[in-house]
Amino acid sequence: MVTGALEAHGMHLPLSTDTILPTYLAEKVAMRTKALVLPTIPFGDSWSFNNFEGTISIAPNALMDFYTSVMKGVFKHGFRYLVVLNGHGGNIPVLTLAAKAATDNGQRAVIIVNWWKELAESARKLAEETPMGHAAEDETSEVMHVRPDLVNMAKAEVHRVVTRFTIISGTSREELLPSAMYGDPRKATPEKGRLIMEQAEEELISLVNQLEKGELPITKR
Ligand SMILES: [Zn+2]
Repeated sequence: MVTGALEAHGMHLPLSTDTILPTYLAEKVAMRTKALVLPTIPFGDSWSFNNFEGTISIAPNALMDFYTSVMKGVFKHGFRYLVVLNGHGGNIPVLTLAAKAATDNGQRAVIIVNWWKELAESARKLAEETPMGHAAEDETSEVMHVRPDLVNMAKAEVHRVVTRFTIISGTSREELLPSAMYGDPRKATPEKGRLIMEQAEEELISLVNQLEKGELPITKR
């Protein structure tokens, strides 16, 4: 299951950035394993970006029902494991609730992979010169690798507004995330994106191989 978003990503990246990247990874992994890939869910909870042009955010309760129905649908057909390759941070709370609802009974597991923060850690450390963000060096590099035709670096801006607390305000979205940006995309290159995507692909393949053996990806310490 691949979950994305239709959400402003600065002025230089496509609205579907969070959909394009995990879909690309899922298709790569499917070619090299027996994993089946569901059609990507291209909308997510993008509340924080809802005032920016092009963003379409789905209400969390609607998303919760949708995700839960998809998960239950998969399990109804006898699958034991469902990997959610999630491309968007705003989806995490709802995905977690949906996974709990879908796995309450029976021998089954939903494995949520928030790929941008849980995969390719060493490639990111090696390749990136600036911290992770939103439409920042990391995401920009990845889209440059996967869909260079959709990147317009002439429009790239640099913004980083920090806060110690969680501020939720419908009228302060532009103030908190100027130009739908957080970070510095200027050092992005397709080569950095390639390194990150290749490592993410290998790690996902290891995960699928482990699940095919009936093992959950856990380590006992
Ligand atoms: Zn993104």
